[in-house]
Amino acid sequence: MTFQDFNFDQKLNEGLDSMGYEKPTPIQQQAVPVILQNKDVIACAQTGTGKTAAYILPVINKMIHADHRHLNTLVIAPTRELAQQIDQQIEGFAYFTGISSIPVYGGGDGATWDVQKRALEQGADIVVATPGRLIALLAAGTTVFDHLQHLILDEADRMLDMGFYDDIIKIVNYLPKQRQTLLFSATMPPKIRALANKILNQPEEINIAIAKPAAGIRQEAFVVYDAQKEKLLSHILKTYTWNSIILFASTKETVKKLDSAFRRSNIPAKAFHSDLEQTEREQILRAFKNKQVNIIIGTDVLSRGIDVEGISMVINWDVPPDPEDYVHRIGRTARAETTGTAITFVNEKDQKRFSGIETLIGSEIPKLPLPEFLGEGPVYNPQVKRKSDFNGRKKRFRKNRNPNAKRSS
Ligand code: AMP
Repeated sequence: MTFQDFNFDQKLNEGLDSMGYEKPTPIQQQAVPVILQNKDVIACAQTGTGKTAAYILPVINKMIHADHRHLNTLVIAPTRELAQQIDQQIEGFAYFTGISSIPVYGGGDGATWDVQKRALEQGADIVVATPGRLIALLAAGTTVFDHLQHLILDEADRMLDMGFYDDIIKIVNYLPKQRQTLLFSATMPPKIRALANKILNQPEEINIAIAKPAAGIRQEAFVVYDAQKEKLLSHILKTYTWNSIILFASTKETVKKLDSAFRRSNIPAKAFHSDLEQTEREQILRAFKNKQVNIIIGTDVLSRGIDVEGISMVINWDVPPDPEDYVHRIGRTARAETTGTAITFVNEKDQKRFSGIETLIGSEIPKLPLPEFLGEGPVYNPQVKRKSDFNGRKKRFRKNRNPNAKRSS
């Protein structure tokens, strides 16, 4: 199958050509024809599968011949980074079509608010928004969605994890009932089904993603004590071949701690977390994409959506709390059918979680011996119950009782 089979408008095909797209990915092959038929869609597809193009290309194609004077399409995404990336992709595809898009997200200063507000007032064809900022703009009466034709929810599972359910429903209440709704999610837990029942109309279901890492990723693990991790990391930096690395940690406190440790050792790395100003975050990502910075340390905010090519290695300083986050984290490497290495540090308390990841991906990840100079690590025995397992369960229970709890990362 080629893109020609979709019979897209020539202007859109030119955009695809200029972006170097030759062949549709499986999610695009399945979703594009259904979306072109104006049907609602619920699609299970992860970042890296080409899901953004899968929903936006048919929407742009429909818009080319439509009346442009009104806001036509709303894309809602969980984070500003993802919103920006979607907006950039749209700009690329729509370059020859005259269709415009604007990103709307929180953070930044009053000037950003004014720019976004003005852009909305002047009108755009597509708005790519994070829920919080969009609600604020809607409340300010700036945005009129009376003629909206397409609503797209991207990474819907992530948005619900972040506590955006009520915001999404609130936004949907501002939209015309007669519209096409497309819901994309990396996973399909019952809460996503419930949301879909509420806002989709007889959707066609498309299921591409089974939570499996790309074949080009070599996965390895080291079973270590926390006290051994820093030395192990330096050893890996010295002995493995790599050109750029993302080092993931589960909390921003750990990210900051690692940042200080890297500074002490004069290793040029940059930390990326939600305490940074938006402009700083953008600068860091730009420097990383341009290869001026070779190591970036971040939380799971970085694990979704961030699209940087040529990352040769992902290191998990700890095991992510959610097994699916593991797949997202390591999916930052080996993109576009290249190869990469993903290394995970597994301390005693993370062993059970790690074995949950192995169950999810359906294969065992090799546990490599520690370099001799580090001495022995803990024994790998994920079946042992630890006190922290019970604490974790209690915490999860408390979190689940408050559906509005926003996840900080
Ligand atoms: P996504 O899953 O939307 O985050 O896309 C992952 C990456 O794949 C992005 O860099 C896209 O630009 C790229 N991509 C998506 N579809 C195609 C395609 N058909 N051919 C080449 N690259 C693609």
